[in-house]
Amino acid sequence: REAPRSATAQPKPPQRTVKLTHPDRLYWPDEGVTKEGLADYYAEVWRFIAPHIVGRPLALVRCPNGIAGEQFFQKHAWKGLNPNIVLVNDPKEPPDEQLLSIRNLDGLTALVQSAVLEIHPWGSTVADWERPDTIIMDLDPGDDVPFEAVIEAAFETADRLKAAGLVPFVKTSGGKGLHVVAPLKPKAEWPVAKAFTKSIADAMASDSPDRFVSTITKSKRRGKILVDYLRNQRGATAVAAYSTRARPGAAVSMPLSWDELAPGIGPAYFTVENTPTRLASLSTDPWGEFRAAAVPLAEPKVRRKKAA
Ligand code: ATP
Ligand code: MN
Ligand code: MN
Repeated sequence: REAPRSATAQPKPPQRTVKLTHPDRLYWPDEGVTKEGLADYYAEVWRFIAPHIVGRPLALVRCPNGIAGEQFFQKHAWKGLNPNIVLVNDPKEPPDEQLLSIRNLDGLTALVQSAVLEIHPWGSTVADWERPDTIIMDLDPGDDVPFEAVIEAAFETADRLKAAGLVPFVKTSGGKGLHVVAPLKPKAEWPVAKAFTKSIADAMASDSPDRFVSTITKSKRRGKILVDYLRNQRGATAVAAYSTRARPGAAVSMPLSWDELAPGIGPAYFTVENTPTRLASLSTDPWGEFRAAAVPLAEPKVRRKKAA
């Protein structure tokens, strides 16, 4: 039997070539995380984060003055855009409304230089805009929901995805909830992915109305979890695995194995600070088989008219 491969026994990340101005600028003042510290973090996690952010349209949370300052949610170019951040044409939008994308670690470092503190990719790539290769069920606990209940919700979501033939993975959001994510072979188009994820959210809400809601309008109800399927429509985004969050604590959205999922690891447990240690001590990457586990989403059955 082969020894488990170390999750980090890999070549050193490539050297940075994008220049960081004001490397000591504090992005998370309370944690003492600087621009350079963030660039170092992303260089360390590069091979883990790359599959989730390269070659996809990105929405970005920019905080030029760190998390305590103003925050901008940006999908389009800004003045003085670093050339390592590449413009991409959404085939369904006018050519003057290009979206943003990156190709490599220089692109990611350019995002850091531009004070991007959250990276939110589409679930499809610029090679295949209409057909998602990832779906995500965003579990949003209302007030007074214990994290144990969010964990149970994640397992239930996973069971329903498995029943549909998919392979579910889980990550912390770095905020308040959990994300259950499944890789797809890009075959079905966005409306199919949306209808599929809606059917799961609606089934959870109707089977356990005391635990789940599937519509935003009911999401303020105390004690319930919103099963937010609306990340799964064309143009929607969700925070990337390993992305930092522009919130106090410098938390990151962390991929977990299902057996790690327990109340000792809260939604914001992993941070810029402790992630490198985590990755170095893992014997296997909990999402190592993510892309290999992709299956196509079944097209809805076309109801054929009976021949007269
Ligand atoms: P939490 O666990 O705290 O819910 P989350 O990342 O799941 O963390 P949500 O509020 O559930 O946060 O999801 C917000 C999603 O909406 C983000 O994933 C983001 O991609 C998308 N979004 C759309 N518009 C905005 C905006 N203006 N600002 C922030 N996010 C936005
Ligand atoms: Mn959420
Ligand atoms: Mn949400």
